[in-house]
Amino acid sequence: MPKRRSLRMLLFVAAAAVLVISFKFGFADAWVDQYALPAAAVSDEVLPVASSAATPPKADPVPDVPQQSEAVVLSNRITEYHIAVTLDEKNGKLLGEQTVTWKNPGRKAVGELYLHLYPNAFSPGSTFLKESSGQLRGDKMKPGSVGSMSITTLTTDQGETLLPRLHFVQPDDGNKNDRTLVTFRLPEPVKPGMSVTLRMGFTVTLPDVFARMGKADDFVMAGQWFPKVAVYETAGTRGRATEGWNLHQYHGNSEFYSDFGIYSVRIDVPESYTIAATGFQTKSPALAGGRKSYQFYADDVHDFAWSASPNFEYVEDSFSSAGIPGVRIKLYIDPLHKELKDRYMHAAKSALAKLGQWYGEYPYSTLSIIVPPANANGAGGMEYPTLVTAAAAKDDNPGYELERTLLHEIAHQYWYGLVASNEFEEAWLDEGFTSYTEDKLMSSIYGVLPNLPVEASYMTAPEPLDQVSWRFSSSNGYAENVYLRAKLVLSALERQVGDKTMSKILRTYFQKYEFKHPSSADFQKVVESITKTKWNDFFRSYVQNGEMADFAVDSIQTQKTTDGYESIVLLKRYGGSPQPVSIWVQFQDGKSVSKRWDGVQDHIQLQLRSSTPLTYAAIDPGNNVVLDNRRYNNYLQAEVPKETRTRFATGITQIIEGLFGTMVW
Ligand SMILES: [Zn+2]
Repeated sequence: MPKRRSLRMLLFVAAAAVLVISFKFGFADAWVDQYALPAAAVSDEVLPVASSAATPPKADPVPDVPQQSEAVVLSNRITEYHIAVTLDEKNGKLLGEQTVTWKNPGRKAVGELYLHLYPNAFSPGSTFLKESSGQLRGDKMKPGSVGSMSITTLTTDQGETLLPRLHFVQPDDGNKNDRTLVTFRLPEPVKPGMSVTLRMGFTVTLPDVFARMGKADDFVMAGQWFPKVAVYETAGTRGRATEGWNLHQYHGNSEFYSDFGIYSVRIDVPESYTIAATGFQTKSPALAGGRKSYQFYADDVHDFAWSASPNFEYVEDSFSSAGIPGVRIKLYIDPLHKELKDRYMHAAKSALAKLGQWYGEYPYSTLSIIVPPANANGAGGMEYPTLVTAAAAKDDNPGYELERTLLHEIAHQYWYGLVASNEFEEAWLDEGFTSYTEDKLMSSIYGVLPNLPVEASYMTAPEPLDQVSWRFSSSNGYAENVYLRAKLVLSALERQVGDKTMSKILRTYFQKYEFKHPSSADFQKVVESITKTKWNDFFRSYVQNGEMADFAVDSIQTQKTTDGYESIVLLKRYGGSPQPVSIWVQFQDGKSVSKRWDGVQDHIQLQLRSSTPLTYAAIDPGNNVVLDNRRYNNYLQAEVPKETRTRFATGITQIIEGLFGTMVW
């Protein structure tokens, strides 16, 4: 009835009064979470300094000090890329040549190779542009801007050309205008454990910065910029019955998936430019004819990105702590944020310290952070191995969104960079885990706590998490689910198993799957092995199905009896998997009682006898059911009891007195 409904709403509002409701989400941004924080959270006070993060940055560092690679092999190194690329800054192009070696990790001979040509996502007719309508995370692709990639030469290492064999494939949607995935037959199948080496020339036309890559004046963000071998999954990987290629086009909602390997990359830019890149430099840049040539190297990583600009302010510091053997943190800052360098450095060091302590070692010697200029917003808030982009420098006095975005991207070094899940098919495994970790970092470093009940109430269109990225209803639906709902699922798990066990679960999952490609089922197995409990209901409801929890006080019936009052409170679980939940009831004389329901059945009746009428009942008053997004039905005020006793309409439900006993006051 409307009256009761409005009463419920009032009670909900009262209960929500303790919650900070100025929280706001920016779900238009698909891979960066932008939160406008409550004004109170942003102050002029000095940021807390982690004990291990106290060294101030040294003055005037040089960005180009060479390093040597170490002999330790951490991953299966399926691919090896040797790339030479020249930035043609006048025409907005990259001219590249690469030698790629691919090792067959399977047990069958492989007769064809697949390459991702991601920049073709920005060419007319692409699946990416159809799905995104040229809009992503609040950015619009500039009218007339086009990005593309073409392979200009393709030969075996003996010089036989394979170029005529190239043909584009569209396994996801059959869109013949999509040229983001290409295949060709090899001259000879690659036997198990053996490898093939190919040489290719390629050209990239950089779009105006949009969706993680492109040019903006003299700033360049080169992400997904070279022809990249797809992942050949062995039997057993992510539950696969038989081995084979994992093939997808570039989609509006999707990120990427690649194998670990070695990258040796030479980058040629105008002399005035500074380059930030994955890995480290093996020699000092060479100068010739007004150009500068950088040599970078990275191993046991699954991607390589770089950025160039003549305007970067450079700051560097080294850092080590438990789990962080020694990292050079390299900041490449847009001049607008020059004075904020200490905030970036503090956030980076504190994040690494926590991640190393919580999950395990950061095994790389560098972490590069790029702060793009305001007109390259689409390049901000993105993760690559050992390199992240912070939010673009749009404001010279940003709030905690500066730290939040950076912490998020650094957390991706663990959930994406090291634990390399398939972002095409199970995006929640990187974005959800990263958003969860981002909250942990924000609260432990800056004391900024998430408001989970309010965040859950934003979840209006839940969808299954383990579906491919392009099946989500919209880009907002994708973002809400793989970032927010996935984070809530992990928080809900944490609430049920406890902080300590959750830490153990994540640490175990990280250590078991670093340098590997786990699936949702692999994560569930870790949860089950640590808790020694089956979690099928939980994963079915919240991961495989798009459910939210919904516990409700459905009705209260109170009758006058000869010696007092008798009430029946009907409690229901409308959605979500079974879980224990607390119940709280209050009587007219001010007395109250708390009980627990195991939540196994979908409803239960609580029978109460009391000397004064029952006035109020609440289920989960402590907001422990993290995924409950309909909290307005968790509270119900009783109506005035009738004078004459009538039979309770118990319907088909059973009164379970054994669980609660009968309480009389
Ligand atoms: Zn992310």
